[in-house]
Amino acid sequence: MPEHKRLALGIDLGGTAIKVGVVTHKGEIIGRGERATEVQKGAQGVIANMAAAARDAMDAAGVTVADLEGAGVGAPGICDAARGIVVRAVNLDWDNVEVAEALGKALGLPAYLDNDANCAALGEQWCGAASGSHHALMITLGTGVGGGLVLDGKIYHGFRGWSGEFGHMPAVDNGPACNCGRRGCVETVASATAMANFARREIEAGRAPYMAAKAAEQGGKVDARLVIYAAREGDAAAVGVLREVGEHLGLAMAGLVGALNPELIVVGGGGSHAGDFVLEPMRKVIREKAMPGPADVVQVVPAELGNDAGLIGAASLVWR
Ligand SMILES: [Zn+2]
Repeated sequence: MPEHKRLALGIDLGGTAIKVGVVTHKGEIIGRGERATEVQKGAQGVIANMAAAARDAMDAAGVTVADLEGAGVGAPGICDAARGIVVRAVNLDWDNVEVAEALGKALGLPAYLDNDANCAALGEQWCGAASGSHHALMITLGTGVGGGLVLDGKIYHGFRGWSGEFGHMPAVDNGPACNCGRRGCVETVASATAMANFARREIEAGRAPYMAAKAAEQGGKVDARLVIYAAREGDAAAVGVLREVGEHLGLAMAGLVGALNPELIVVGGGGSHAGDFVLEPMRKVIREKAMPGPADVVQVVPAELGNDAGLIGAASLVWR
């Protein structure tokens, strides 16, 4: 344990699990706790579970509330960070839940809250791939595509807290249906889900015999992991699928590069395990399509903190 008292709780609130870390002022996690979210118990039940997971983490770190300066929460959905409220979270079925105040009371600590993707961006900017940068965009390739904007050193929230929805920028005219109700959003062509969908398309067209054989070995299941594995094994069809995803991402981000002049674009989430198979085509399209100038200086880099980015960034809310 560090000799001086500079510790905070970072809480990653997900739809199935609550993950908590006791985080030092340098971004190290010295104790962890995890509990099931139990959405069916309602908001107050979930907040009680957050407090319980926090106490587990304190026990694991060998500290008490008196050793901590506060708690930060990364929550899914639309958040009012200034007021510590989750405005709308579909996967928790929450509307206007005052999380920070209730959790603060339960723990006896000041508590803060922001959207989980924003927290991941803050984590990477604090002590990950964008460490020290004041102008970084974070994009997360998972089931969907999330994002966060660090502009002038701070998270940019937008008018009502909806900023950073890179996954729902229009990418393809009349493209696949998106969960948001539109068609052809970035996440329909550039998420981990899209990698699997493109691979399935290639398999069905008879153009991907290697991936078809690998899928048959796992009961026909085609997922991003399989595509990435096949690409690493040198399968041209898999490399092509990942290139397609990277090119869509590059085009989507090219507009933002001109508009915002970021120093870094940090790519995280499960889909980022594709590494340069996605990042190289992404860089190429940005170099070719984004405005000269900002296109020449921006760097596209993989995230470094993995699943801990949100938790670490949430803890940093205490010191911001
Ligand atoms: Zn959408």
